Amino acid sequence: MAARVPVSRPDLGDLELSNVERAVTSSWISSSGEFLEQLEERFRAATGTEHAIPVSNGTVALHLALVALGIGPGDEVIVPSLTYIATANAVHYTGATPVFADVTASDWGLDPAHVESLVSPRTRAIIAVHLYGHPADMPALRAVADRHGLALVEDAAEAPFATCHGQLAGSLGDVATFSFYGNKIVSSGEGGAVTTNDAALAARMRLLRGQGMDPNRRYYFPVVGFNYRMTNVAAAIACAQLARADEMLDARRAIYARYDRAVAELPGLVAQPQQPWATISPWLYPLLVPAGAGERDRLIDALAGHGVETRPFFIPIHRLPPYLDDSGRLLADLPVTDRLSSEGFNLPTSSSLTPDEVGQVVAALAAVVQGG
Ligand SMILES: *Cc1c(COP(=O)(O)O)cnc(C)c1O
Repeated sequence: MAARVPVSRPDLGDLELSNVERAVTSSWISSSGEFLEQLEERFRAATGTEHAIPVSNGTVALHLALVALGIGPGDEVIVPSLTYIATANAVHYTGATPVFADVTASDWGLDPAHVESLVSPRTRAIIAVHLYGHPADMPALRAVADRHGLALVEDAAEAPFATCHGQLAGSLGDVATFSFYGNKIVSSGEGGAVTTNDAALAARMRLLRGQGMDPNRRYYFPVVGFNYRMTNVAAAIACAQLARADEMLDARRAIYARYDRAVAELPGLVAQPQQPWATISPWLYPLLVPAGAGERDRLIDALAGHGVETRPFFIPIHRLPPYLDDSGRLLADLPVTDRLSSEGFNLPTSSSLTPDEVGQVVAALAAVVQGG
């Protein structure tokens, strides 16, 4: 049998290796160094923003952004439930309460009308997630945020390089967060960044990232901060990935195109929606099985039998134990979220997949759909 095709595999080459070697031989392996400076520049360009601040991962990026916005105990932050757990956990860390809103079937991002119905006197912010690379409807969410005086945060971990009405992810809210985890498009092992065009917010995030140390007075700490710094070694890898971004994105788009053709021909499968105002980030090819969770799980198991690793969509966070009420009951009713979560799964996507591996996935998909 052919070798197993992993759902994700970092694409690391000679440039990553030579950058890391250079960081190590320079002895700049902690939180200063040339690659951290280069990363700020490269990531500002990649997001069309004025400030890009590297941090240790995408989860602390969210926490840092929320603390810098002044969010804390007693506040509410509206978030999707169909996302990675970090989006809600970051709200929880601040002492605020995540309030779960439904997503739309047309872009899988927060439903602006449902978000507006959940705004209370305690609401302080909205976190829009660009789920599986498709941008949320940011102009509509911006309008809701503006009507109620709320901050708008982008969790763009899954969508670097995506655009919404021609504007890059990372520049669409008051502040945006990214992850450079090993399965993300730009990887540094662990790592992340926050981006913003707001100079005061950027300064606050820098202060809080570095333990709260006064930038003009060494070892003087005017506030309680965190150690959320990235290392120059991780930045060396991230810089190589950003230098190779065009090449990696082209490879990912070619894989998406092959899967699109296969999915269009196979009965019972539905591709990710693509709004005309959006360009998606080709992260981890998502598709739906409208027959429901039973058939979706059968396909996942059958694909595994063909050596193809896949991933079911996120379990909605409002269904997970930490986010139930004290008697274990659901705190939200989110029909679109529940449906997408039960129908969706992701196909292997990495710029390091070979054409043969992609062919193996396409052939396996055809075999298991027809075998049903
Ligand atoms: C990956 C991811 C994160 C968290 O990133 P880490 O670097 O793993 O902490 C946050 N939000 C979303 C939507 C993600 O996909």
